[in-house]
Amino acid sequence: MPRKYVYSFGEGAAEGRDDMKDLLGGKGAALAEMCNAGIPVPPGFTITTHACTLHRDLGTVPAEVSRQIDEHLALLEERMGRKFGDANEPLLVSVRSGAKVSMPGMMDTVLNLGLNPKSVQGLAKSSGDPRFAYDAYRRFIMMYSNVVLGLDRAPFEAVLTTARRKARRQSDSQLDAKQLEKIIAAFEKIVRDQTGKPFPRDPHAQLRGAIEAVFGSWDTERAKHYRKLHDISDALGTACNVQAMVFGNRGDRSATGVGFTRNPATGEREFYGEFLQNAQGEDVVAGIRTPLLLAELESILPEAYAELQDITLRLERHYGDMQDFEFTIEEGKLFMLQTRAGKRTGIAAVRVATDMVDEGLITREEAVIRVEPVQLLQLLHPVFDPADRAKYEVAARGINASPGAACGQLVFTPEDAVTEAEAGNKVVLVRHETSPDDIHGMHAAVGLVTVTGGMTSHAAVVGRQMGKPAVVGCEALRIDTARERLQINGQTIGRGDWLSIDGTTGEVILAQVATMPSEVVQVVTGKLHPSKSTIFAAFERLLDWADLTRRLRVRANADTGADAQMALALGAEGIGLARTEHMFFGADRMPKMQQMILARTEPERRKALKKLLPLQRRDFLALFKAMNGLPVTIRTLDPPLHEFLPNPTELKVEIEVLKATTKTTGKGKQAKAAAAELEALESVYERVLSLSEINPMLGWRGCRLTILVPEIIEMQAQALFEAAAKCIATGVPVDPEIMIPLVGDAGELALQREVVQRVAGEVMRKRGIHITYKIGTMIELPRAALTADAIAEHAEFFSFGTNDLTQTTFGFSRDDAGKFLGHYVDQGILPRNPFVSIDREGVGELMRIAVGKGRTARQGVKIGICGEHGGDPQSVGFCHDLGLDYVSCSPYRIPVARLAAAQAVLHERGVEELRTRARKNLRYKTPPTYHGTARGSTD
Ligand code: ADP
Ligand code: MG
Ligand code: MG
Repeated sequence: MPRKYVYSFGEGAAEGRDDMKDLLGGKGAALAEMCNAGIPVPPGFTITTHACTLHRDLGTVPAEVSRQIDEHLALLEERMGRKFGDANEPLLVSVRSGAKVSMPGMMDTVLNLGLNPKSVQGLAKSSGDPRFAYDAYRRFIMMYSNVVLGLDRAPFEAVLTTARRKARRQSDSQLDAKQLEKIIAAFEKIVRDQTGKPFPRDPHAQLRGAIEAVFGSWDTERAKHYRKLHDISDALGTACNVQAMVFGNRGDRSATGVGFTRNPATGEREFYGEFLQNAQGEDVVAGIRTPLLLAELESILPEAYAELQDITLRLERHYGDMQDFEFTIEEGKLFMLQTRAGKRTGIAAVRVATDMVDEGLITREEAVIRVEPVQLLQLLHPVFDPADRAKYEVAARGINASPGAACGQLVFTPEDAVTEAEAGNKVVLVRHETSPDDIHGMHAAVGLVTVTGGMTSHAAVVGRQMGKPAVVGCEALRIDTARERLQINGQTIGRGDWLSIDGTTGEVILAQVATMPSEVVQVVTGKLHPSKSTIFAAFERLLDWADLTRRLRVRANADTGADAQMALALGAEGIGLARTEHMFFGADRMPKMQQMILARTEPERRKALKKLLPLQRRDFLALFKAMNGLPVTIRTLDPPLHEFLPNPTELKVEIEVLKATTKTTGKGKQAKAAAAELEALESVYERVLSLSEINPMLGWRGCRLTILVPEIIEMQAQALFEAAAKCIATGVPVDPEIMIPLVGDAGELALQREVVQRVAGEVMRKRGIHITYKIGTMIELPRAALTADAIAEHAEFFSFGTNDLTQTTFGFSRDDAGKFLGHYVDQGILPRNPFVSIDREGVGELMRIAVGKGRTARQGVKIGICGEHGGDPQSVGFCHDLGLDYVSCSPYRIPVARLAAAQAVLHERGVEELRTRARKNLRYKTPPTYHGTARGSTD
């Protein structure tokens, strides 16, 4: 028997079910399921995804598929009691694409297919409404010409506009039959002129064309691009639905609309949606007329409203998820046209998932699987105070690179950002683009804006890492550096003027919009009582359930006591990375740090380090105290030294200026001072030059630096153990882990280990206190991964530094790769940006090798990850699969990682099984048998 390529909606309980999404697509499966349950759906049939892949391979619709289509079309004619192309009562259909997951780029729906000069008369007669019939026809010609024949809409629009103007009418719906007939003639002429052929009149030819166009749309560039981005296989194909038309444009007792079973922004249980009377298809979303709120339907068409509410709530219960539905009412009679899981904000996602557990609709596991981990970020970022936000207009839009709202005074340079921040001012840093040299300024700013760059630009990555709102690629901005002015779409502001940005939407506003911490953050920071926040309660419960499920531990990347406290409040089980270099950026520390670096002799250096010691000790103390006995991984100094040094070009300018403006000769006191200053500057300049590297990121950094200058790591170890000793002495438990960065060879680690152990011994002896600690290393170079067995002999733990490991594995720098990475992803060379989500085949393989070798060489070696990937859900899943012990990420990402780690366990158990457990019966009415017309036949 030939394979089945076409299914009637609800053809039989076993055929056309919701779990046939692969074959019927999401739309088709839901239509079938509704039909089976006796919900009023206009009859029709689905041509399977399988037929689509065949069409793709053969370049044509195979004869067997065509035969089955004809067969089902005949069946549909019989059920509807109408014939395709009939001069009295024509059958009209819609042709709708529908893949397993809905995606952009697929063919738009064609309505009213089957109309031609003969059948339009039939429709006019049978409906008794010629205006309606010609309205349907002109809509059909325009839609079909555009989406199937590929003609531009503009000339058609022009015809309509002219006709409206001539008839002095505001909207198309006010045109009468005569005027519409003329429009149709003009439309037909456009088609003839542009294609050299008349508009197809044979309904069967129309149908064939539309079906082929649906299948063809699977391979549009937009669809392909979307699939790549979302990991959807090209092999799936789309299904095609052919469905009898019902008409929402038959007067005021007819309508079309869309809605949600709950509020998609807040998650609250309310019937939410919009509709338009006397309208068809997507008029509601097209914004031609302003739609009415669904609640108003109750008074206009009470019966249809009650039925709609009843049906959609049943659908929600049945699918166990919030539904997004589409419906049409024809002369008072309701028809459902689509239902699917509705898109929602993070807040709504959390709220709906937990509410549904309480309502007994889903299990806790399903709730945990349901919420997309990154959506949780939306619950944590500061928000604009809605009342204040409403007062202002948007000046420009860029890419929403790092979510949250921020408001501050405009600065153009990192130096200004630092100065202003130290003076207690909030600043937004606006740059053409940012670079690692700007880090201190980015730290100081409350928000970041760049003119160029995309989602993976330096500003975007660092913004997300720091949890700072960022809008990047905002090309409407013109920076005039010399005059410190910023032009935005005709408006000009200057340094110090207020500017607000919303990194969640990409909006830039030229005003001081009030922001406030999100409700969840207000609770975790103790500013709001938990009992006062429904959303916090939901957030907390969902994450509790996740914690019960997950195996991976979750730690935080935190450099300060404040970061650590926030991380703890968000559920961190330790610190996986404390970067000590970040501790030297403050105004009180930078000069001391520079002194240390510029020192030419060991005693000089020791003197400078001595000044840093108490500051560093205080930092560690704060971390230990905050974490109260949880593990704290502290990494010794890592970055290239130039990040702490003045810029050589600027120094040179300063020297020249000094030379030109002051007299350095003569004997006066002033002259002497000037000469001394000049000499000092020149000496710094010379030192900066001597330390400058051609490729600092691959240069003298990490343990390479502390091996040559061991005084640094000695000081850091001393600060660490003294802080630990102090904690222990005061009854605060500690669990320190010292982590050596950028090790490529076991010998490097062995050397550093010796230094740390020696200092630890000294401190313990001196204080008379025993401190238990671990020494470990970052695995961030391919060579470290490959020699992990030798390294494990000196390391009690490994932490994958996947940022550097990705750079060194691919051999491209994160800060420069932005120029071509996007292209690589577009071209399909790489499935996604490897700095966002771990490259499993390359970087991941090195990780796998390191885990294997490390565990073989040292049983129980603790292994984690502390790159930015630690907060990326897909990478967390990968770490789970690799069997790591923990992931470490920025504090705000902790909830994301907790949820992703739980989902990894559920995926392992098999989510499908979770989902297909018995559902509430959807049975609405006994499914109808369609004899006669669709109208009224289901009562
Ligand atoms: P999308 O995939 O963009 O949601 P749909 O296939 O759902 O496209 O079609 C868009 C709209 O067209 C529907 O919401 C509905 O209003 C209208 N429509 C589709 N099929 C029919 C039909 N058989 N009768 C009446 N209207 C229809
Ligand atoms: Mg569409
Ligand atoms: Mg739809």
